[in-house]
Amino acid sequence: MNKKEKPRFGIDIDGTVTTADTLIPHINKQYNTNIVLEDVIEYDFLSAFTQPIDRQEFAKWFKENEAYMYSVSDLAKDAQVILNEWQSLYELYYISARDEKVFQVTQQWFEENKVPYHHIELIGSHNKLEAAKKHNVDIFFEDKHDNAVNLAEELNIPVILFDTPYNRELVPKNVIRVKNWLEANDWIKRNF
Ligand SMILES: [Mg+2]
Repeated sequence: MNKKEKPRFGIDIDGTVTTADTLIPHINKQYNTNIVLEDVIEYDFLSAFTQPIDRQEFAKWFKENEAYMYSVSDLAKDAQVILNEWQSLYELYYISARDEKVFQVTQQWFEENKVPYHHIELIGSHNKLEAAKKHNVDIFFEDKHDNAVNLAEELNIPVILFDTPYNRELVPKNVIRVKNWLEANDWIKRNF
């Protein structure tokens, strides 16, 4: 079970393979705001608003529109080229908090954007430990700070953390903060 022929990479989707700011224009349109990524200082879009926002209402709007928003998400710079280089060298396992309901739209996005994958798993929650453990991944790629720290500490694997305004807290030694996919690729080339 879980026999690996190559190193297996666990990769988050939103804010990692897609740009961290790709959902913001949708939010601005809905709420008539001018939020920018730098305003999002916690892993919570509501942290960017200056006016009070009904969290339940926001969640409802998000749920109703997420399939569309995911279908038009922007790919992070250089991610496609690098993942393409990696696909013959490593196993690419995407593990996302997205709900299973958006599997089809997610898979279609990968096809349309020519992003290679060996497996896509939508777990519907932010608890990625179980899935990462089950698939025995050798490294993880994340943008969510607490996920990165948990995965690194519990599984004792390196985690590449894509730097964003909402994940600037301190990290342990085996969480490697990178600014972009080129830096991630440099680290992988040196270590895998
Ligand atoms: Mg993410």
